[in-house]
Amino acid sequence: MGRLQNKIILITGGASGLGQAAAIRAAEEGAKLSLVDLNAETLEETQKIIKDNVSDAEVLMITADVSDEAAVKNYVDQTVSEFGRIDGFFNNAGIEGKQNLTENYGSDEFCKVVGINLNGVFFGMKYVLEVMKRQGSGSIVNTASVGGIRGVGNQSGYAASKHGVVGLTRNSAVEYGEFGLSINAIAPGAIMTAMVEGSLRQMGGDNWEEAGKEFVSVNPMKRFGKPEEVAALVSFLLSQESQFINGATIPIDGGQSYK
Ligand code: NAD
Repeated sequence: MGRLQNKIILITGGASGLGQAAAIRAAEEGAKLSLVDLNAETLEETQKIIKDNVSDAEVLMITADVSDEAAVKNYVDQTVSEFGRIDGFFNNAGIEGKQNLTENYGSDEFCKVVGINLNGVFFGMKYVLEVMKRQGSGSIVNTASVGGIRGVGNQSGYAASKHGVVGLTRNSAVEYGEFGLSINAIAPGAIMTAMVEGSLRQMGGDNWEEAGKEFVSVNPMKRFGKPEEVAALVSFLLSQESQFINGATIPIDGGQSYK
């Protein structure tokens, strides 16, 4: 029996990268899934991948933009009406945005990145917390970043949003611990996903793979992380085994944030 057996796990950004890997892992551990993403096509593909891995997996797919509060309320309502509760919430959807020095960073770009990465995480917590408080149980894992605990540069919107996610996590952890909830964040370093490929293309253009080698040369482990490694951490944080961990932001970055 998996440690997420029959748990209802809601994942945003569930159609790619970390969200998809966490969805596959949760299904393997016995969870029923509600997957939210902006991209309906990749959501369908993800459902197929999950069913290929776990033939009897139950997967609800919801196309929604997490920066739209009404859409967030709707994905939470839809999940509860389908499954009756929410045991775990991987509040993960996010974008990097265009890299630029702060003086050149577009104000519209700033609002867009913060709108998805921070407002989206806040809206998700707001509506999911209401459900979990009523249940008297539940775990939330918010996706921050190394860029949410230290300065990376060229990422005003991303840095502001991810530092904000760390703050939201700590704030809610102290509010809801007494109701039996655990609320944590993860701070991934460079994990090889579509987002990181896009980021390397911004740095290196067609030579992005070379840019990638240079990028990981400064990592203590000299490699990119794998989405499956992040999925293993998320699965632990969503399980009963980690219930006394509350308010933490856990780096998963090969040691990069300690340099
Ligand atoms: P990804 O691009 O592979 O996946 C992100 C998913 O989120 C996509 O499926 C996308 O369609 C969805 N999404 C984007 N905007 C959305 C919106 N407005 N509403 C709903 N869905 C939306 O990226 P990833 O690397 O898996 O990133 C996932 C999270 O991890 C992000 O919050 C990102 O900031 C964070 N992160 C990633 C890394 C990394 O190295 N990959 C490092 C640190 C933090």
